[in-house]
Amino acid sequence: MDAYLSKEEIAAYHPYKLQEDGLTPKQRAQKRMQDLDLWTDKQYMGRRWGIGCVALEITQRCNLDCTLCYLSESSEALKDIPIEEVFRRIDMIFAHYGPNTDIQVTGGDPTLRKRDELVAIIRRIREVGMRPSLFTNGIKATREMLEELSAAGLVDVAFHVDLTQERKGYATEVDLNEVRLEYINRARGLPIAVYFNTTVFDGNFHEIPKVVDFFVQHSDVVRLSSFQLQADTGRGVLAERGFAITQASVADQIRKGADCNINFDLADIGHSSCNRYGMTLVSDGKVHDLFDDPTYIRKVINATAETVFDRTNKRRALESIIDTVIKTPSLLPESAAWLMKKGWEMKGNLLKSKGKVNKLSFFIHNFMDACHLEKDRVDGCVFMVATKEGPISMCLNNAKRDEYLLKPIEIQKEGVVQFWNPITGGFQKNAPEKLTVEHTRKTARGRTKEKIEAERLAARATKTADVKGQAETTQS
Ligand code: SF4
Repeated sequence: MDAYLSKEEIAAYHPYKLQEDGLTPKQRAQKRMQDLDLWTDKQYMGRRWGIGCVALEITQRCNLDCTLCYLSESSEALKDIPIEEVFRRIDMIFAHYGPNTDIQVTGGDPTLRKRDELVAIIRRIREVGMRPSLFTNGIKATREMLEELSAAGLVDVAFHVDLTQERKGYATEVDLNEVRLEYINRARGLPIAVYFNTTVFDGNFHEIPKVVDFFVQHSDVVRLSSFQLQADTGRGVLAERGFAITQASVADQIRKGADCNINFDLADIGHSSCNRYGMTLVSDGKVHDLFDDPTYIRKVINATAETVFDRTNKRRALESIIDTVIKTPSLLPESAAWLMKKGWEMKGNLLKSKGKVNKLSFFIHNFMDACHLEKDRVDGCVFMVATKEGPISMCLNNAKRDEYLLKPIEIQKEGVVQFWNPITGGFQKNAPEKLTVEHTRKTARGRTKEKIEAERLAARATKTADVKGQAETTQS
């Protein structure tokens, strides 16, 4: 059997439908992990969550054109889906996964959506009892916008900054720390957790340690740094990654930058080929691994499975852990011993920092190439995208985005069913039979842009040659 899904197998996959099986989202996730042999005593899926997170794409437009963008070639030509449809998808996610589900409000870049609609979307997610995160390249995410979104219920902001974005004036990944610092200062002091996403590719792999060191030095604000490995999917022009970039080599680069032997094998988040997670404490700029005692930490993971951490407030998050440990008397002696050991290990740093400690987590996300999808990973996926028809694995969605994007959306308007056309942005009585995008230089991005540019240059060269030929003919 081929290791990868064939085109026919990919086509046969569809978004998850709501199941009437009497199971809770967590029980369903546990069953999914068990069926795939992924259910271990360190598996978060099905223990802590019904799903890792769900991406809610509220626009397909973006103000950048990353060389490894996962979006479809069609994206820039598509209008933003109607707000009623966004709200319907929020309710659909809740029906699938329940309260406290982490929703990545993303795109495209979500800040390109009308401001009042973006605020309303964040508010709606929070009101139904789920947790909204803003996934943005940060260009339009001003302090004022972050304040407004925070007031509406935003829980986290994840800034995507790296060399694949080709921001003008930044030649190295370390140069981009200037942008990262500006974003940190925009979010500083707000009750939201700050994350950074970095795509790892051949052009920045060697700089990861220095980027990690930057996050360590700013761990008073940065709570999580996620590294996403280059994948050949979407409109990105860089295609497949080099052999040097693996989960193990990226983990080593992170350890090097943190100057700490971070354990990336203690927590399972779905499939271990997809996700690796490490958690550390930082005091006085020195990193200490939190997952250094697997037996004890596994017990804590189990004991806190039902605990909901408030990521908007460090003190409340810590109180939730203490409360859970106190309510689990069997854990008390081990917790006391672990705390003493950790305190002793960190004593010098704690003294110098006057007791200041920050939590900093690292995530390694290994997206798959669109034509190299592995069945067990897709089936065990913890990262869904909310399509019109239901949630679907992000890697699978990336492999066939247009199938969901280039479809009219049925919406009840004034008591009548109408069809919203993603290309015109208008409503019509009947569903259009087929939707195709005719690209212009304005809407072309990624690979299509390269193709259109090459055709334009070839046409210009032909025209120049013709003119030259005519001139020579006239002279002779
Ligand atoms: S299948 Fe893809 S999107 Fe899902 S968890 Fe694995 S790498 Fe992530």
